[in-house]
Amino acid sequence: MDTQASWPHVVILGGGFGGLNATRALARAPVRVTLVDRANHHVFQPLLYQVAAASLSGPDIAAPLRHIVRRQRNVTVWMEEVTGIDLAARRVQAGAQTITYDYLVVATGSTHAYFGHDAWEEFAPGLKTMNDALAIRRRILSAFEAAEREPDAVKRAEWLAFVIVGAGPTGVELAGTLAEIAHHTLPREFRIAHPRQARIHLVEAGPRVLSAMPETLSAIAQRKLERMGVDVHTGAAVTGIDATGVRMGDEHIPARTVLWAAGVAASPLGAQLGAERDRAGRVKVAPDLSLPVRPEVFVIGDLAWVEQGGQRVPGMAPAAKQMGTYVAHAIRDRIAGRAARPFRYRDYGSLASISRSSAVVDLRGLKFSGFAGWLFWLFAHIFFLISFRNRLAVMWNWAWSYMTWQRGARIIVGRSRASE
Ligand SMILES: Cc1cc2nc3c(=O)[nH]c(=O)nc-3n(C[C@H](O)[C@H](O)[C@H](O)COP(=O)(O)OP(=O)(O)OC[C@H]3O[C@@H](n4cnc5c(N)ncnc54)[C@H](O)[C@@H]3O)c2cc1C
Repeated sequence: MDTQASWPHVVILGGGFGGLNATRALARAPVRVTLVDRANHHVFQPLLYQVAAASLSGPDIAAPLRHIVRRQRNVTVWMEEVTGIDLAARRVQAGAQTITYDYLVVATGSTHAYFGHDAWEEFAPGLKTMNDALAIRRRILSAFEAAEREPDAVKRAEWLAFVIVGAGPTGVELAGTLAEIAHHTLPREFRIAHPRQARIHLVEAGPRVLSAMPETLSAIAQRKLERMGVDVHTGAAVTGIDATGVRMGDEHIPARTVLWAAGVAASPLGAQLGAERDRAGRVKVAPDLSLPVRPEVFVIGDLAWVEQGGQRVPGMAPAAKQMGTYVAHAIRDRIAGRAARPFRYRDYGSLASISRSSAVVDLRGLKFSGFAGWLFWLFAHIFFLISFRNRLAVMWNWAWSYMTWQRGARIIVGRSRASE
């Protein structure tokens, strides 16, 4: 007799850090798992900026979901966009298919938000998915090509101006990498445009870069960026973005390439869960991460609004992973008739790289930066990459780029703007 057919059905929406961890932690549980994601792969988002900046190629930081869970006999993977959740009927709409569940884990993450200025997206793409990273890479590399072809010096300068909006970890990492590309990787390959003359602007509405980190580390990061030739504008709220550049009140930075690294909004599926949500659309959950009135539905990762000790659990990969593992245990407890203990987030700190040999690290009390910080950052990222193949590929690419300043993934595919 097929015993699996009688097991409770757990449907997990999203194969990111939260959903994938929940799936893996259910490996030996007496449940059938269906993992649904609109992409066929899991992405290691902390290194997306390196794909955008042509340091790594897409497959270096991603792996097919099907391959990751291939040994887990109780898991079926569906590549499909989820469009609806019917809580009363306990079913999910995925494309033309309806999937019924006994337990539902919603882990569809977040996306970028433009603070009500959706028209800015066309001129300032955000970085969230592999497609975003490849589109940004195309924009950056195409801008240098357009500058090389541009006879007019003023217009050439506009092609060589890059503005990054938002100085959180992603903005800082993008700005540092762009400065390295412009000032070290490209100069000898261009004849008319001078990549060394490229201006990289990092614009932040708040008073400092890396605002979630201690002030000392923010100051170190800003000084390092400035030494690398990045113009850091703090306390500068963006009031307009269009094809000519970025406006901050009376100031206008002419630039043809603007990248958005500010503001996130929770996945729109959160709106279908009938629960209280915060301003970013995150769904308020009970201490065991379930919906207050639907205990069979759990919300985890960036989509969940979880508070601990009066503070919001941050939208970071370790938090999503911890929630994923927790929820798998909570489901096992429910099936076994045990009460689940409340979720506890363990904060191990945060880190951000600034250049190919410098990073800032805050391990909750232990702070360090520079080369030691970078080595820590490097090994932490390699350790947490999803597969052995990814680790080898990334190590090799970083070693090569460290020795030569070269970027291995500088191929432009497709065309991003009609004007290029
Ligand atoms: C550029 C960038 C850099 C980052 N850097 C760091 C860092 O250095 N350190 C750190 O800790 N965190 C970092 N983060 C944050 C971290 O990646 C997130 O907190 C984490 O990915 C959240 O996990 P999640 O499972 O909630 O969502 P995600 O990992 O985003 O996964 C969501 C999944 O749901 C799928 N999905 C979404 N909607 C649907 C739908 N309708 N139907 C089907 N599938 C759907 C998506 O395809 C995706 O696979 C970074 C994020 C970004 C974007």
